[in-house]
Amino acid sequence: MHPGTPFVIEVNPHIPPRLSRLTELADNLWYSWDQPTRTLFARLHSGLWDKVKHNPKAFLKRVDEDRLNEAADDHIFRGNYNRVLSAFDTYMREPQCLDMPLDLKPGDLIAYFCAEFGFHESFPVYSGGLGILAGDHCKSASDLRLPFVAVGLLYRQGYFSQRIDSDGHQIATYTDSDFEDLPIHPALNEEGKELCITIELPGRKVAVKVWEVYVGHVRLYLLDTDLPGNRPEDRDITHQLYGGDRSTRIQQEIVLGVGGARALEQLGLKPTVFHINEGHAAFLIVERIRRKVKAGLSFHAALEVVAASTVFTTHTPVPAGHDHFAEDMIWDYFREVCNDLGIPREEFLKLGGAGYGKEFNMTRLALSGSRYHNGVSRIHGTVSSRILSDMWPQIRPEESPMDYITNGVHVPTFLAEVWQDLFDQQLGYEWRRHRTDVAFWEKVADIPDHLFWSAHQTLKSKMLHSVRSLVANQHLRNYGSVARLERMLKFTNPLDPNVLTIGFARRFATYKRATLLFENMDWLRTTLKDADRPVLFIFAGKAHPADKPGQELIRRIYEVSHWPEFEGNLLMVEAYNLSLARRLVSGCDVWLNTPIYPLEASGTSGIKAAMNGVINLSITDGWWDEGYDGSNGWAIKPTPESFDDTRRDQEDSRDLYELLQDQVIPMYYRRNELGFSSEWVRMAKRSIITLLPSFSSTRMVMEYVNKFYGPASRQWRRYSGGIFNVAHDLATWKVKVRQAWHGVRLNRLNEPEKRILFGKSTPLAVAVTLNGLAPEDIRVEVLVGRASKNGQDKNLQILTMKPGKVEGRECLFHLELNPQMCGKLLYRLRVYPYHESLTHPFEMGLMVWL
Ligand SMILES: *Cc1c(COP(=O)(O)O)cnc(C)c1O
Repeated sequence: MHPGTPFVIEVNPHIPPRLSRLTELADNLWYSWDQPTRTLFARLHSGLWDKVKHNPKAFLKRVDEDRLNEAADDHIFRGNYNRVLSAFDTYMREPQCLDMPLDLKPGDLIAYFCAEFGFHESFPVYSGGLGILAGDHCKSASDLRLPFVAVGLLYRQGYFSQRIDSDGHQIATYTDSDFEDLPIHPALNEEGKELCITIELPGRKVAVKVWEVYVGHVRLYLLDTDLPGNRPEDRDITHQLYGGDRSTRIQQEIVLGVGGARALEQLGLKPTVFHINEGHAAFLIVERIRRKVKAGLSFHAALEVVAASTVFTTHTPVPAGHDHFAEDMIWDYFREVCNDLGIPREEFLKLGGAGYGKEFNMTRLALSGSRYHNGVSRIHGTVSSRILSDMWPQIRPEESPMDYITNGVHVPTFLAEVWQDLFDQQLGYEWRRHRTDVAFWEKVADIPDHLFWSAHQTLKSKMLHSVRSLVANQHLRNYGSVARLERMLKFTNPLDPNVLTIGFARRFATYKRATLLFENMDWLRTTLKDADRPVLFIFAGKAHPADKPGQELIRRIYEVSHWPEFEGNLLMVEAYNLSLARRLVSGCDVWLNTPIYPLEASGTSGIKAAMNGVINLSITDGWWDEGYDGSNGWAIKPTPESFDDTRRDQEDSRDLYELLQDQVIPMYYRRNELGFSSEWVRMAKRSIITLLPSFSSTRMVMEYVNKFYGPASRQWRRYSGGIFNVAHDLATWKVKVRQAWHGVRLNRLNEPEKRILFGKSTPLAVAVTLNGLAPEDIRVEVLVGRASKNGQDKNLQILTMKPGKVEGRECLFHLELNPQMCGKLLYRLRVYPYHESLTHPFEMGLMVWL
């Protein structure tokens, strides 16, 4: 032991003038999707690069000045440096690198709110899929040059780092980020001063600092309460991602929603659309309404303007994924706001679906305050409209305003550099411009099989190398023997990447059933005993520290991987993060996903795998239900939801076993004279061809633009024009409709005909009891379709009936029904409120059927 206190001092090098723009590269998250930029830093000092967790800014502060000077004098290094800069400058200068029509007008601005953003392992403000998706959304917005800003929170501690001890227990460690090392700057207000805003919490004000991050062309603003002037407990609000208790959570969400809206205002930004990505940011709605009310609008008119310009995306059907707060807690925080809004307590609570014993739910709030809503895959859209059907009580879930946009993945971030280089060579550089062009990608079929296979094998070796060192580290730290380590790693050999390798890496939530493979140990034993056709399963992922059953899954895999008969065949790898994720999704042969249908809202790791030619073997849930086409991977058809969990596990696992033993393993080992399986290569190519263009985040963001951002911007203009007349009229009209609706009835006036000849028509006439509404306030429709087993066919012809005389309290509607097909048809009649300014025809949730 040395005597005395050690004092820390960090010595930062001068960056030589010839390399001065390295700091600029370190300051733009462009490096998170441009591998050559990262390689440039790594080449300066690869040991230090790993030590600083691939963080360019931290790297530049710690690297030796001698090394920098040496690099500045090295013309090869300078050549690389200039190439990287020229690519960066081109990206930043080019107006748009993709040539797509986008439904936006000058002046439109999209503000995207999310509680986490995952760009790169060097910037730990994310935990998992949601954050990575938000990061990819921003990256694609930058690629598309969208008018787009993002808002989130700056956490002192991101998600934990994971270790696994000798009993298979997960050890979570949180570390503080040094903000000096992050690619962030204090945001400046219009006067050029560091921007700080205030929010109100019960009995006090809290100062919030705004930081700015460059994501290519896009600006991300992150909010931070850790300021000397705040009380200690308020400084802690943004301390940890999803940390603390319920109070911390509501405070974080107030900082994000309310603080975020104020930050944008102070920055002089005037968004025309707000996108709430998952319910955490939904208080944004309350703040925007409050501001409109303060400016003189009624609460209801304000709600209409705000909702018509708000998009809300829900990300999970699992109830634990939806935040809710006790009524009393909400009231503590929002009593004053409710006063400002001029509405009674009950009405405020109703925005979040609270009352009658229910808590205030952030998903409900987000739905109440938005007119564009979506799930993240076709199945998830349907499931969400079922779960949330009471938001639109009289609308059938198939017609509810809950839409879907299937998730995508940012290709430059997750497509390994080896593939990018091969595509440059074989498809030409323009593949980058054709990211969503389905026909273009057919060219992948023409890449010579041996080149394709060798690209895959290179990536597999890199992955095996990383996994080997992680497992060795873990094993030796836990005092395991070297002999055993050798046995554990016998199939993890970067020099011989010829063992079929199946990967499973993601969050360890129980519904994802990481241990489904262990349903039938006898089967597993028999299959893995075949010495000629070995199989390696690699598992990685974190369980939330509060999720004991999730951690138990990790422990179970760890335990089974140490049974003598499975040594070498199963690995539970620690320290899952974005960097390991990129390695695994590009380096395995097969990507496995076995969630309980329909709980995997989308899933994105399988998409990352697919674009790297790693073949998916998954339950057809989430994105895979849309992606699987019979030629591009393997599908496990889920057992019906009505079966109990035990039976579902049994049946799904039996499907999995059969696919592995009958198809996956034999196909992999049917090798040709060149040493690989041609069938395998064909399927891997199909995976890239069919899935890369359709599941890129470029396609996803373009869908958001054309379906939501463009229309919402137009609604915003329409509603807010003049003195907000449209919003005001619509709000008044809705109040009138809601009061009258209980008395609206539909009565048929003529006897239905049972049989007509083709070409003839039959008159339909109904009387609608208006109960005070005008004929223009409603729309009466006839839905015609073929009779099918379960009622009416899905392909319906919808006809609008014409209003006639008003007689007393009733209005007559009529139509000549003239079907265009023969056979047994069904038709139904319905009435619902209609106003030309509605955003969605059924947004009021009201409809009466005859
Ligand atoms: C892609 C990704 C996820 C999401 O994976 P799912 O398959 O959607 O569960 C989680 N974590 C990281 C680090 C990822 O890169």
